[in-house]
Amino acid sequence: MRTLIDPDTAIELVLASSNHTKSLSFSVYETLGEILAESILADSDYPPFDRSMMDGYAVRASDAGGTVNVAGEVAAGGVSTHHVAAGTAMEIMTGAPCPDGTEAVVPKEDVTREEDRVTLPTTIKPGQNITRRSAECAKGTTVLNAGDTITPLALATIVTFGIEEVSVYPTPKLAIITTGDELVAPHVSPGPSQIRNSNGPMLAAMAQSLAVSPTFVTHARDTMDELRNALAQASACDFIILTGAVSAGKYDSVPDALREFGATPIFHKVTQRPGKPIFFATRDRQLIFGLPGNPLSCHLGFHRYVAPAIRKFMHHEPLPPKATGTLAAPYVMKGPRTVFQLARAEHRDNAWIVTPLLGKGSADMYAGSTANCMLRFKPGCGTVDSGSAVEFEWLLGASPLPR
Ligand code: AMP
Ligand code: MG
Repeated sequence: MRTLIDPDTAIELVLASSNHTKSLSFSVYETLGEILAESILADSDYPPFDRSMMDGYAVRASDAGGTVNVAGEVAAGGVSTHHVAAGTAMEIMTGAPCPDGTEAVVPKEDVTREEDRVTLPTTIKPGQNITRRSAECAKGTTVLNAGDTITPLALATIVTFGIEEVSVYPTPKLAIITTGDELVAPHVSPGPSQIRNSNGPMLAAMAQSLAVSPTFVTHARDTMDELRNALAQASACDFIILTGAVSAGKYDSVPDALREFGATPIFHKVTQRPGKPIFFATRDRQLIFGLPGNPLSCHLGFHRYVAPAIRKFMHHEPLPPKATGTLAAPYVMKGPRTVFQLARAEHRDNAWIVTPLLGKGSADMYAGSTANCMLRFKPGCGTVDSGSAVEFEWLLGASPLPR
């Protein structure tokens, strides 16, 4: 087992132990955010008929400038057996199939109608405002490839072709185990030495921002027995995320409980602030993270180490893209450990202005509760001046859009 490694080595070790999952078939409606494991082919032409793009009149192009008889109408979902011959028009609605003989659709705002006759504009281009059958997508075309993400638009495309079951790389089974004798559930009034369990809900929310619903969330008091039971329940999960009891305290029994559980420790402690005592182990194909209990340490541990492993599992790019901004205030880097600093990026004058949200240590999530991004400061970087260009990462679940 490695100890006191730097954050880059730590993420390398995590990713080296992470696996890709195998594909499985699911109802497409349950796959938002997942990656397709198959290509999707068009089962029919799209559009399936010559479709009017406008509310107007289906006409012959050679009738431009003339006055023609309106023989009837065809609405979306309707059909017409009428043949549009020279000297006649059909009133037509957006999305309706063009009747036989239609050469163009003239928008209703471009004609003058008097009873059953319309006077057409002087120029009509053949084919105007008609989307021909199969112009968007011919039967048999590959519309999505294996590796594409199921976004709402991808889902719409899939169901358009009548497909409701797809092969995807599914989300992992994930267990969250919080630990600590001092913790009570959020609805409970804490006693004099108690605090509310906020890491459990935070970790579940972070997982949900990756489209993962935790398989279960449970709490263990600081005894080997309770930890053992919680781990036994989690034994079929792909990921086990524990929080608390990983430092050097007398009741910090997570590392021992994990060894007993059959896990192989990979590293313990990373030279970072917050989150130094993080513990990482594997058990067969299972990844087990012991995150420190302090809320910001726990948050950082999930953001930096758990999330990339989950993304890799789901066949996504493991590491999120970085953005660039301008530091809004000087930052004084202290100490020998890499600092991951919560910050708030705001879009002003076409740039991201990034303000570090300085708190009082790794238990102080209040300072960070309005953060939407994270900065990284390397040891020895000294003071970084206000106005410096800085790279940052968006936080899980934080939208880059202004509130
Ligand atoms: P530990 O890592 O168990 O030593 O805990 C470090 C600090 O984080 C202690 O002050 C704990 O009370 C606090 N803590 C541990 N688990 C949680 C949790 N689930 N929610 C909120 N605070 C926690
Ligand atoms: Mg504890």
